Amino acid sequence: FLLSGLVAFSLLTVLLGSFFILKSISQERKLIMMKTNFLSSVSHELKTPLTSIKMFAEMISNGRVQKIEKCQEYSKLIGKESTRLENLIAAILDYTRMETGKQVFHWEKLDLSQCVNRVFEATMDIADNRGITMIKELAPGSYIMGDNTALYSLAQGLIENAIKYTNPPGKVTVRVAEENEKIVFSVTDTGIGIKPSEQKNIFNDFYRVGDEMTRSTKGSGLGLAIVKRVAEAHKASISVQSHPGKGSTFTVKLKKAE
Ligand code: ADP
Repeated sequence: FLLSGLVAFSLLTVLLGSFFILKSISQERKLIMMKTNFLSSVSHELKTPLTSIKMFAEMISNGRVQKIEKCQEYSKLIGKESTRLENLIAAILDYTRMETGKQVFHWEKLDLSQCVNRVFEATMDIADNRGITMIKELAPGSYIMGDNTALYSLAQGLIENAIKYTNPPGKVTVRVAEENEKIVFSVTDTGIGIKPSEQKNIFNDFYRVGDEMTRSTKGSGLGLAIVKRVAEAHKASISVQSHPGKGSTFTVKLKKAE
């Protein structure tokens, strides 16, 4: 009986061992696949604006464009595409800095409403161009301990997504308020929404929902991964409430400063 018990035990150990080895191999393969997908989507994202920049620059420099208005128009397009490149590179750098723990936070007591307001003002043009109405309800004196630059990226990530994933004539509402000793920042949109089965995935690195609208918008799938890391660094909670076809609300709850 003792012998058969021992045999059964050894068999179980071997089976469990193999199970964990297989599991870790499949996790490693998943990670490699994600990194490869990331590299190919980032390369693609970098290549698209670069191709336009090169094309417009060539058209101007080889003298094919005679009219000054056309030259100005193409120069503007070069500027726009360069900004796109700059933003993408900044997101990748932000992400890798956080991933490798190299991000240095500068903690200070700050008014979150002021920080969010700066993002609001900076994104109003993008919303306007897309025919989206922006509303703000920012309670002044919403003090927290935080890093201004990192919180700017967090607010920017959520507000830009709300604008990006909302069809005109939609509405994006940005709020900062005090609730139960917490400073609550939320962004609500009347956009495409996120299926319940996708809601847990969207904060993952490089993850993009496979729907039509997401595919037709630019993005690397890094925005919410950065937002989540900034929230974690501030010991803040982040959650999403969403209904497909109706819209989404992303909520970040931070500790109020003394
Ligand atoms: P991306 O660069 O694709 O925007 P994010 O990490 O910011 O990457 O978001 C991940 C995915 O979550 C997006 O691709 C999109 O499918 C979904 N998503 C994010 N925010 C919203 C939103 N406000 N409404 C609908 N879908 C959203």
